[in-house]
Amino acid sequence: MDHARKSHLTFYIFAAIVLAVVLALIAPTFAMKFQIGGEIFLRLLKMMVVPLVMASVMSGIIGLGDVRRLGRPGGFAVVYYLTTTVLAVVVGLVMVNLIDPGVGTVDQETLEALAEKGRAMIPEREEATIGTILEGLVLMLFTDNLILAAVETDLLPLIVFSIIFAGMLTTMGERVHAITAMIVQINDALLSFILLLMKLAPVGIFCLVTARFGEAQAEGAFAEMLSQTGWYVLTVLAGLGFHAFVTLPLILSFFTRRNPFRFMLQMSQAVLTAFSTASSSATLPVTMECAVERGRVSKRSVEFVLPLGATINMDGTALYEAVAAIFIAQAIGIDLTFAQQLMVAVTATLAAIGAAGIPEAGLVTMLIVLNTVGLPVEYVSLILPVDWLLDRFRTAVNVFGDSVGSAVVEKSFAGPEDGGEM
Ligand code: ASP
Repeated sequence: MDHARKSHLTFYIFAAIVLAVVLALIAPTFAMKFQIGGEIFLRLLKMMVVPLVMASVMSGIIGLGDVRRLGRPGGFAVVYYLTTTVLAVVVGLVMVNLIDPGVGTVDQETLEALAEKGRAMIPEREEATIGTILEGLVLMLFTDNLILAAVETDLLPLIVFSIIFAGMLTTMGERVHAITAMIVQINDALLSFILLLMKLAPVGIFCLVTARFGEAQAEGAFAEMLSQTGWYVLTVLAGLGFHAFVTLPLILSFFTRRNPFRFMLQMSQAVLTAFSTASSSATLPVTMECAVERGRVSKRSVEFVLPLGATINMDGTALYEAVAAIFIAQAIGIDLTFAQQLMVAVTATLAAIGAAGIPEAGLVTMLIVLNTVGLPVEYVSLILPVDWLLDRFRTAVNVFGDSVGSAVVEKSFAGPEDGGEM
């Protein structure tokens, strides 16, 4: 695809989203009929994820020639993931304390009703501590059944396996030439497949967005949402906006001297796909394609930083978890001390790392945050009506954060640059 056609595609995707929202607002029932189109597009994307992650991580190691050369960039990537996630949480905490979206927004009677609803929904859970959360995170890296991990799109163990397996291949020389050649070829073929899929993106994205927004409009969820949680929505969006338009661009230009807004434009297809699918994992094929083809990030960096980032680097989710926890505390009239807010920050960071890259995963790990800081989990129903919408924005920020990461970490790969050609 030449450059002009790729830019057209971004425009078509953007136009598709605008049209989709307009249609959903004026004819919600009709809009909902497009659901099947959206589902097909989503399945096509998701179908690519497991083979792509395994092939790209393995092919990356094979390209490096020695797994030990992953040490420096690997460490750098982890530092990047953690730093940006913590920065996002800090932005979220500052915003929520400045705006105070929860203070006096919901009356006692509505609160009681919401808590009742929440109690009916949430199963009893054990006390969570930082220790048990960390233990859970470490265990997430390993599986006793690789096939099951693939079936459940459990990417972390697949990445761990791929690194070990490909690392071993690099020590076996000519004996495994056929396998290494095949892995590299499969990876190339999958990336070409994604290019083909992207031609469907405007239609697929139109269907996805119009069906979901139509459903919300038909339920009257928009009005309910704005009356109860308007300030909360604004706070989360302001925080996400700050992170995407100030923090990440500063980091990108500081480390790479790239123009951050041009980079944002180059990654826009991935960001818009993330908004439409609400899933970093489903968006991963598009993110990788955009970063290599349009962002000209080296293939080597993309192959490691993006698959891992899609699962553990979630700036948007972390920010949202921190804001949501404090919002709930404010709404039920609990004044959190500085120490408790610090606890929220730590658990929100860990909860975001633990969240899967699937729709509304953050809402589930939110319960861990509430639980750890001792807030009543049933009040999560307070933020439920808007979660599907905020999920889209935070996923877009998650994906943009991963992309910036691939550009930042790029420099730390030793050896000759591979130029980002596919
Ligand atoms: N949907 C988000 C993602 O896939 C995770 C979340 O915050 O719910 O990145």
